[in-house]
Amino acid sequence: DIYAAAAAGVAISFPLGLFLAGRALVPIRRSWEKETRFVADASHELRTPIAIVQAQTELLLRVPGHTIEREAGQINVILKESRRMSRLVNDLLTLARSDSDRLLLRPADFELDVLARELASRFRLLAATKRVAIRCDTDAPVRIRGDEERVRQLLAILLDNALKYTPPDGRIALTVRRQASFAVIGVADTGCGIAKEDLPRVFDRFYRGDKARSRAEGGTGLGLSIAEWIAKAHGGAITIASEPGEGTVVEVRLRAHARHGSPG
Ligand code: ADP
Repeated sequence: DIYAAAAAGVAISFPLGLFLAGRALVPIRRSWEKETRFVADASHELRTPIAIVQAQTELLLRVPGHTIEREAGQINVILKESRRMSRLVNDLLTLARSDSDRLLLRPADFELDVLARELASRFRLLAATKRVAIRCDTDAPVRIRGDEERVRQLLAILLDNALKYTPPDGRIALTVRRQASFAVIGVADTGCGIAKEDLPRVFDRFYRGDKARSRAEGGTGLGLSIAEWIAKAHGGAITIASEPGEGTVVEVRLRAHARHGSPG
């Protein structure tokens, strides 16, 4: 096994062995630690909604002669927490499959500008309840070859974040541009922004900047990890710039005609 091999390496020539062993062990240990961490974080995230659903249901069962009308509040809590769990499990599955390369893309030709406009109008309905305006400005047509469902998911994650972290009366702008062999998506908002120290970590799994706010908004801390995976799987990249109190700009570049595969 790797430990024995490493020990043998050390026995043969201490400095060389240590060097080789170190090189072999570090990536393995890191990926193992990453996986353990992922499972621990996932379990931790699931524990709270499970506990809430359990406690609320037990309470309901203990109340004699209750009516649905009277217990509507509690039933809503159960529903909300169940939805949260379901979202979490879906996100976890996506990431677990992307890790094990079992998440295959189904590439087809489609028009990104059309998709973007469709999503913008869908989110406009939600945004209206907060008096947040969504503008959509695209080149046309922006034809790309990619997995339309995954790109839809990517747009939804970014618009959902922009909306979650933008207070009432704010603005969101979605843009789609052609740029040489890339399609460039921009999502800018006038929201709360991201603290400088949080910025390098927002793509980490389960990382949530403002924990209280993110949790209250139903965030799982997995959205940007998934968005990053989708961008990379399309031969692209995602970057984020933000100014606390001013707003956030996310930019995604997708190769218009990528050879699709796992980003690793
Ligand atoms: P979450 O489910 O918490 O939104 P994400 O992975 O999508 O998880 O985002 C990680 C963190 O990045 C969020 O908790 C939030 O702090 C920050 N963030 C992401 N998008 C925005 C945005 N548009 N404005 C402000 N903060 C953002």
